[in-house]
Amino acid sequence: MSTTDRLAQLRDALKELELDAFLVSSPENRRYLSGFTGSAGYLFISRTDAVLATDFRYIEQAGKQSSEFRVERTGASLSWLPEMASTASARRVGFEAEVMTVGTHTAFLKAVAEADVDDGLTLVETSDMIDKIRATKYEEELALLTRAIEITDHAMDEIGPAIVPGMTEAQVAWGLEKSMREQGAEAMAFDIIVGAGTNGALPHHRADDTVIQNGQPIVIDMGAAYEGYCADLTRTIFVGEPDDTFKKVYSTVLRAQLAAQEQVRAGMTGEETDAISRDVIVEAGYGDAFGHSLGHGVGLAVHEYPRVGPRAPDVLADGMVFTIEPGIYLPEWGGVRIEDVVVMESGRARVLSKAAKIDVDL
Ligand code: ZN
Ligand code: ZN
Repeated sequence: MSTTDRLAQLRDALKELELDAFLVSSPENRRYLSGFTGSAGYLFISRTDAVLATDFRYIEQAGKQSSEFRVERTGASLSWLPEMASTASARRVGFEAEVMTVGTHTAFLKAVAEADVDDGLTLVETSDMIDKIRATKYEEELALLTRAIEITDHAMDEIGPAIVPGMTEAQVAWGLEKSMREQGAEAMAFDIIVGAGTNGALPHHRADDTVIQNGQPIVIDMGAAYEGYCADLTRTIFVGEPDDTFKKVYSTVLRAQLAAQEQVRAGMTGEETDAISRDVIVEAGYGDAFGHSLGHGVGLAVHEYPRVGPRAPDVLADGMVFTIEPGIYLPEWGGVRIEDVVVMESGRARVLSKAAKIDVDL
């Protein structure tokens, strides 16, 4: 799927919304459509033209990465837009309401007011239009995601078994990051979470100087970024000999995860998929201890479409990539979460994550 095809897909969406052109400001969407990886710039895509507007720092890079776009050197403001829209005879220009700041929007309105162009140029609010297209991955994207996931799996299998009492969470996180970097990760997709003992029950805990003790569960959540694509993996390990609480909680979470992985089908909503896992956890008596969504789409962003949670209407379809990550969190004890990335193929989920899980009776 070339950028030409992606542009054609966007232009179809523009027709449906009766838009003459579209202004892209989200970094992920900019990269998705143009291949440009710089940190600043806009895409202006009309029915006939595709422009990458960026500042002097990125002109050369933009020319190399985005051959299907005409590269225009602009400043940070949107003062160039009215004239460009006028040249393209674009009156209704869509923009990404979730991404554009109020300040930029105000500046744009001012630029229109000051510009000497024909009447009737309006910026039209759109909501996650390209983001929804991005939910379904092309083969090239899936290959990059798979590589990010392999790097992440390898780091987990290398470092996880080497965790011993006396290490700090931060030391474990560094070992994981080092391993991912050595294998070619360009960055971490997000700050690595290492939650030992009761820290594992805190969803926003990162990795600090907490010393790991014998007899503790440890929640590790991490992902490599590779060519822009993000992996997302959680494993819960146990330091020492697992006790009965751990065995019960862990086997419940694993059963919940496997149930969703085996039973999800194309055509189900995110809500229906979430319910497969949630029912298992509720039946085991831990319903109140699973306080987050079952999963989320993953790709150029670590959280994207489709949504997979209790009220998610998104319909799952072949080519979509998302996580399945049930968890149980007991504040006085700790947490267990197990997260894999899956891709929908031939109507079912194929699990991409391969990192080892603890062998327990289900
Ligand atoms: Zn995660
Ligand atoms: Zn996740």
